[in-house]
Amino acid sequence: MQDILRIKNLSKVYHDKNSETIAIKDLNLELHDKEILAIVGPSGCGKSTLLGILAGITNKSSGEIIFNGRKKIGYMLQTDCLMPWKTVLENALIGLQITKQTTKENIKKVNDLLDKYGLHDFKDKYPNNLSGGMRQRVALIRTLATNPDILLLDEPYSALDYQTRLALSDDLYKIIKEEGKSVIIITHDIAEAVSMASRVIVLTKRPCQIKNIYEITFKNKGLPTENRKALEFNFYYDMIWRDLDVHL
Ligand code: ADP
Ligand code: MG
Repeated sequence: MQDILRIKNLSKVYHDKNSETIAIKDLNLELHDKEILAIVGPSGCGKSTLLGILAGITNKSSGEIIFNGRKKIGYMLQTDCLMPWKTVLENALIGLQITKQTTKENIKKVNDLLDKYGLHDFKDKYPNNLSGGMRQRVALIRTLATNPDILLLDEPYSALDYQTRLALSDDLYKIIKEEGKSVIIITHDIAEAVSMASRVIVLTKRPCQIKNIYEITFKNKGLPTENRKALEFNFYYDMIWRDLDVHL
């Protein structure tokens, strides 16, 4: 399988005045082309630090990040960061404006994405008029607008209620597959990881290292909500649950 991204011996140390925090130590990891890689791990173990480094907004201390040609990255956070004074369409276009790519073709693409993913009637509405789920969908479309090869999602749905998260995980899965993206998604929700990803990486406590890697296979793989009902689901869920059990 081709890798779109390789992380080699990555380490990150934060230095404060009187102390240092080793967030990541000698981490090695690959992202396969067009896979959904889920990362789970204890709170504070260094997951967001890892994505920040991959997104180029945090400096690494040592190690290598090797992109296989395509290295355009889309980065999405837990909060949707929509601007309340701009409409849905204007918000979705922000990424293109910042990167000076507001061509006619790209604007059409954003409009098409909004149409395709249920936001046609909301383009002229303001974020405050939208449900939390819809807002996250706008944030995802804004991220997709610049046509990134790799999507980095840092607990994108953890602020939403359970029902909305379920529906959005199907949405997200469909969008990722249809748009052919390679994805790293951080989540604290084991069920979300198992039902959506092709591999789940379990990290140790800080400094984060890999504790286990699971190849997730379902005999009849479907949408995430369908996978949750599959026989294999509980098997993976239990193993990852045990990996993360703080009492062990
Ligand atoms: P996670 O996303 O897994 O919860 P983070 O990557 O946010 O963890 O943080 C990992 C560790 O690094 C934590 O102990 C956190 O306190 C520390 N850390 C994160 N950002 C900074 C920073 N800017 N300066 C100092 N320490 C930081
Ligand atoms: Mg985090």
